[in-house]
Amino acid sequence: MCDTCCICLDLINGSSIVQKLSCNHKMHHKCFFQLVINKSTKFIDCPLCRKINYNVNWPTVSLNKILHMCCMSSNRCIHENKEGVRCTNKPHFFNYGYCHNHSKNILKKKHYKIFLTYLNYIFTNNIKHRWYTKVYFIDMAKKLIIKYDIKRFDKLLYYFFKYFKENENNEVTNPLAFYKQYNIEPPDKKWVTLCKNKKIIF
Ligand SMILES: [Zn+2]
Ligand SMILES: [Zn+2]
Ligand SMILES: [Zn+2]
Repeated sequence: MCDTCCICLDLINGSSIVQKLSCNHKMHHKCFFQLVINKSTKFIDCPLCRKINYNVNWPTVSLNKILHMCCMSSNRCIHENKEGVRCTNKPHFFNYGYCHNHSKNILKKKHYKIFLTYLNYIFTNNIKHRWYTKVYFIDMAKKLIIKYDIKRFDKLLYYFFKYFKENENNEVTNPLAFYKQYNIEPPDKKWVTLCKNKKIIF
């Protein structure tokens, strides 16, 4: 028996990375993740039976593959040289469309797991958060992990909690103040707006 993806209705073949919902219906992980960021949570309703999904685990494939799936980059690095020629390297995930050579914030292999744990946390927690806020949180987490070589999830959360505790009297939550406090580079506003408008992360 062949399975079909309950979102795009294409076949799920041997090379597809599959997400099984808690109701046992299946979909391509890419289709699933698109739905997740659209709804801002992994607790989506199954498109077929409408049951709420509580399987929040990542599929069992390489962490590298999952990161690539979660990240909706273009096919090529967006850097242009002085003559206006585009770089031909592939973009690295979560680097605003830039490749290894043209981005300063490259996630190392040893950090893939904790970063994915954070992504999971973002999509299983605080579904009230606006997409805009999530985009910033994901970027902040990545940069904190790299800067402080964070390997434990509780340690990563500590940086967020510490900041919000110390700034709880601030009426307006300004993401830039967070970047300033930890001396990490804020993202290009253009990138944030693009992610916000298209409901993507890249
Ligand atoms: Zn699909
Ligand atoms: Zn179902
Ligand atoms: Zn490049």
